[in-house]
Amino acid sequence: ATVGELDAALVDCRACPRLVAWREQVAREKRAAFRDQEYWGRPVPGLGPADASLLIVGLAPAAHGANRTGRMFTGDRSGDVLFAAMHAVGLATQPTAVHAGDGLELVGTRITAPVHCAPPDNKPTPDERERCGGWLRAELALLRPRAVMVLGGFGWQALLPVLADAGWAVPRPRPKFAHGAHVELPGERGPLHLFGCYHVSQQNTFTGRLTPAMLEQVLDRAAQAAGV
Ligand code: SF4
Repeated sequence: ATVGELDAALVDCRACPRLVAWREQVAREKRAAFRDQEYWGRPVPGLGPADASLLIVGLAPAAHGANRTGRMFTGDRSGDVLFAAMHAVGLATQPTAVHAGDGLELVGTRITAPVHCAPPDNKPTPDERERCGGWLRAELALLRPRAVMVLGGFGWQALLPVLADAGWAVPRPRPKFAHGAHVELPGERGPLHLFGCYHVSQQNTFTGRLTPAMLEQVLDRAAQAAGV
């Protein structure tokens, strides 16, 4: 399979009954408010080129952001912060992301998530994480990442077992998430540089816990480690 074929299969996934119900309920209820747009309401595939050497991993699509636009981090405040920073360090062709047809392209970078459907309260269950981890394992098998930047502790927890399954040596005890954390994981397909960054949620960006400068700094280190 190619990454494109994987993405095409992913958007038809209905494996998690609770998340299927939620993503479709939100789409039904909110469609009227965004009448001029198609409201996606389906699994959101990874965004960015298949030969990306840097991966950015969040947790799950936001109900009114990616679940609406069908494109990772597109259409909400978290994405505004992320894409502005990516553009500032040369990883995105424009600083804003409004809808799936706005022309945004990522440079050497792909954004994906351990859970591809919007969960209620942004909280997937362990079962849902486990199930959707299969998609991420399949994606990782097709990509050749040299560095991964994980946004937030939940994404970090969800990603480590998937990286271990995908052939990278994850130390025991597992490395702890911290903003600016950096761990090098040896692997059959070459080492992987893992970086932690606070999530770009409004809770972090509005309070100044995560500033644009802090985000750009980790992005820049991850991009250098990935050779982008
Ligand atoms: Fe499928 Fe993942 Fe969505 Fe569950 S969360 S329905 S596994 S795409």
